[in-house]
Amino acid sequence: MRLFIALDPPEGLRDALMDMQDGLGLGREVPPENLHVTLAFLGDQPEASAELLHEMLGAIRAPAVRLTLRGAEMFGGRQPRAAVALVEKVPELVALQEKVVQAARMAGIELPRRRFKPHFTLMRLPRFLPDFAEHRIAAWLGRNGDLVYAGGDALQFTLYRSTLHGDGPIYDALAQYPLAPTEEPA
Ligand code: ATP
Ligand code: MG
Repeated sequence: MRLFIALDPPEGLRDALMDMQDGLGLGREVPPENLHVTLAFLGDQPEASAELLHEMLGAIRAPAVRLTLRGAEMFGGRQPRAAVALVEKVPELVALQEKVVQAARMAGIELPRRRFKPHFTLMRLPRFLPDFAEHRIAAWLGRNGDLVYAGGDALQFTLYRSTLHGDGPIYDALAQYPLAPTEEPA
């Protein structure tokens, strides 16, 4: 099965992401329930690896992660393929991502070394863009490129199975793992 590990947005943040989606006027929206920040993409794995992985992920102890949106971008360079909201790379997020990668390695899953650029994918763009695309993208980046939004804490992370279909993937949450709430200073 095709597996990945991700953070889900708190409800208020999900609404903010949906507002950003509404504004582009181009491409296919990621359904609201599918919005996530990928921590690690594991690809196709046998059932046995998945079970070991589940054990390793369950042993992770880490604090909640503050999710702050900081700007938006198009991924894909000269051929934009996705509109994304960037997530501030706070130390707790970096540490959690490293622990998740470590857990995967301990479960025998080799991951390619890859720079971690935390983001929510909002829209998938078609390969061939209409003429008005350039203008809509520029306008959207103008409105969202410098955006800052305090999205609250992610209090858990999730192991997902992704099943690919022609009209978009289906994500099933296989297991969720709690993150420790951080204490507010008195
Ligand atoms: P689709 O591939 O149909 O557009 P998707 O990308 O949402 O849908 P998956 O390909 O199963 O579905 O990917 C699940 C998550 O893992 C997504 O956040 C995706 O961006 C990420 N991902 C997929 N492939 C990789 C990869 N090779 N490296 C890093 N992240 C990946
Ligand atoms: Mg994909």
